[in-house]
Formats: sequence, structure tokens, C-alpha cells
Amino acid sequence: MTQFGHNVDSEPVADLKAGIDPQSPPEQESVKKNTKERMLPADAFALLGNDTRIDILQALLDANADKTPVGFTELFERVDIADSANFNYHLQKLTDHFIKRTEDGYEFRHPGRKVVSSIFAGTLTDRAELGFFSVNGSCHTCEGNLHGWYVDEVLTVACVDCSTVLVSYPFPPGGLEERTSEELLQAFHHYVRHHYCMAADGVCPECTGTVETELVNESDENSNFDLIVEHSCQRCGYSLQSSVGVNLLDNAEVLLFHSQRGIDLSTEPFWHFEWCVSNTRTTILSDDPLQIRVDIPCAGDELRVVLDETLSVTETAIQEQLSS
Ligand SMILES: [Zn+2]
Ligand SMILES: [Zn+2]
Repeated sequence: MTQFGHNVDSEPVADLKAGIDPQSPPEQESVKKNTKERMLPADAFALLGNDTRIDILQALLDANADKTPVGFTELFERVDIADSANFNYHLQKLTDHFIKRTEDGYEFRHPGRKVVSSIFAGTLTDRAELGFFSVNGSCHTCEGNLHGWYVDEVLTVACVDCSTVLVSYPFPPGGLEERTSEELLQAFHHYVRHHYCMAADGVCPECTGTVETELVNESDENSNFDLIVEHSCQRCGYSLQSSVGVNLLDNAEVLLFHSQRGIDLSTEPFWHFEWCVSNTRTTILSDDPLQIRVDIPCAGDELRVVLDETLSVTETAIQEQLSS
């Protein structure tokens, strides 16, 4: 099993559901004044199951409704529909939940803007695939060449020789457009890195709900080392599993250790680092309470980072010129 997995309990439209916000308890009335605005996800999707309504949302975007409200006439002219009564019918269906009518015209409500973003990200409509392409770097296990592929909206980087998967993570198909494979990998690096950093900081990358992080030690006496970091959103059910190391990608001392040795961890693809994508450089120092250490090599030196069971860094030390 790869240490670097990801699940979402729901379809890729989780982002959209986040905008619809089905689960906030009604007692939070101070945040949203009118709970009547709440809508079940199924009702919201039913409202969107019509091309004219999607066209209206798209037209609002094209008419720059983010900046200024768009009048009825302009909106009607932008949508390919002959009958203004019919147009008005669909417009009214969207009004209140997805768009808002003001004195100056129509503008987005947050869920409506989310729908449009999702369409552009390709998560609602497109199906894209990208066959094998070569990826810079080499396998940490066998030094074989790396290849990437994109299937079912998941981008994977793996070794062609020993099949070790370095990273496999959902990526919106819109992100493939107008990018070379090199640019795609760079964008993918930023996207995944930020998701993990957000989750490690306790914020769900899908719905901004609260994420709880647990370090699960399933190592056994037969020296099968299995230490997994599990992030799970208490609100939308989004969950992420990872190695320990990837959670250190935005740790100040880890960043500094690398930058002093000429490596910028914010731009260097994280799968180039074995400590990020596997647990081979992680050791368990004590079981109870759980204490672990990650040894991070760079330019002949090594940064040793000690963490507790909440993944908080408790100690760091640099060992110089280990390899000389
Ligand atoms: Zn390999
Ligand atoms: Zn969430």
C-alpha cells in the first residue's frame, strides 16, 4: 500500500457541496441569519440540472458579475434562449440560492460562484486522460526512471521498474489545459503540497472544516514498519493519509535547512525527497507516548526532527557531513 493516499467519501463535486453547506447546525444563526436559505445537496443539484441555468451562471461570470451586478437585459442577451419568459423562469429558479437580485442587477451568491469555479476546474464536466509521460528524478527504491499518468482525475507519479508509487492524488482536469507536462507537474506539486500543509494545519482543503490529525502506528513485531498520518475532516468526511515527512514540508526549520543548502522546498517537487514520500527515514523512538524521528538528508548533512503523537516538532538537530 502506498503511504500516500487520499479518499473523499463523495464525488468530486465535494467542492460544490461545500458551497451549499448542508451540514451546519441551525444554532449557528448568528453566522447565517436565515436558515431557510439552506438547501439539501440533492435539491441544489436538481436545480442545476438544466443547461440554461448553467449558461446563466456562466453569463454572469462573462459579464463580470464579480465586480458589478448584471442587468436582466444584458444577461438575457448573453444566454442563447429566444423566449424571455422561459429565461426568466430559469433565472428565478437560481435566484436566492445561487444568485442574488439587487437593485442594480444580478450577482453571485457564494454557492453560485462555486459552481462556476467547479466548471472551470473541470470537476463537473470534463473527462481528461493523459498517458505515460516521463518525469524528472529517479526512484528512491531502485533508482529506476519515473513516469506519470493521469486517469480518472488522479495524477500518479511512479517508478516504471519497481512500480513504487511516489504520489497519487486527485487533480482537477482543467489544470491540464495549456500546460506542458513539466508545467503540469509543477502545478501539481504546489496543489498537493498546499493540500497537505492545510490539512496538517487543521483546515480541510475541500470545505475549510476542522481537520483532526492522528498518527497511527500499525507496526508489528515482525518489523513491518507501518506508520500512517491520517487527516480527517469532521465536517465533509474528506480524508488524507500520508507519510510523516510530507507534513514537515512547511516547517520553518526544515525549509531553512534546505535553503541554506541551495534547495527551495516550495518549488522543488516533493516526490524528489524520500523522506517526504516514504517512511524509510522515519524511526519510532518510543511507543508510549509515541515519539518519532525523521532524518532528512541534504548536501551531506542531516536534519533530525523529533515529533510527538500530535505531529508537533519537539526537537531538531543538525548532523554535519555524515556522508564524508
Ligand atoms: Zn523503482
Ligand atoms: Zn471538509
